Amino acid sequence: MITEYSTLPTGEEGLANYVQRLRGYLSLTQKELSFKAGIHIQTIRKIEGGQTSRLNQKAKGGLASALGIPPEYLDAAAKKVSPETITTLKFCPKCWTPGTTPDPMWTDLRSKYCFACGTALRNRCSRCNEPIMSLKFKFCPYCGANYKQNQTTA
Ligand SMILES: [Zn+2]
Ligand SMILES: [Zn+2]
Repeated sequence: MITEYSTLPTGEEGLANYVQRLRGYLSLTQKELSFKAGIHIQTIRKIEGGQTSRLNQKAKGGLASALGIPPEYLDAAAKKVSPETITTLKFCPKCWTPGTTPDPMWTDLRSKYCFACGTALRNRCSRCNEPIMSLKFKFCPYCGANYKQNQTTA
């Protein structure tokens, strides 16, 4: 099912609106999000109230995994820039577990190869070459290819 759903910060919306929008997609209350992200509800209220745009590593990591986005998107939203200027969605097709937040070492702009196994990182579908828009998907929404390389080990 493909819906009008973008986890990319738009650039102008800012961190408060961005977090609110994604929380809306997931139909989570502030309380549920705070529980999922493992951060205090006051912090969520502050973020959504626009009172803070600086998140510590723990809050950022928790929020990113609860919202299913790379932590860099939160940075991009806070700075009101397009996330492409900060990061690209890259992952190791061998080590990444689809549906989880990719390791920041992969999404770092300077990374080209996996730090763990040396495989070339991907940011596009290997079959149809469409850019990967959300790492919440396990399969390419355009052609149905599995983002993770098939392995014999389960
Ligand atoms: Zn790897
Ligand atoms: Zn594809």
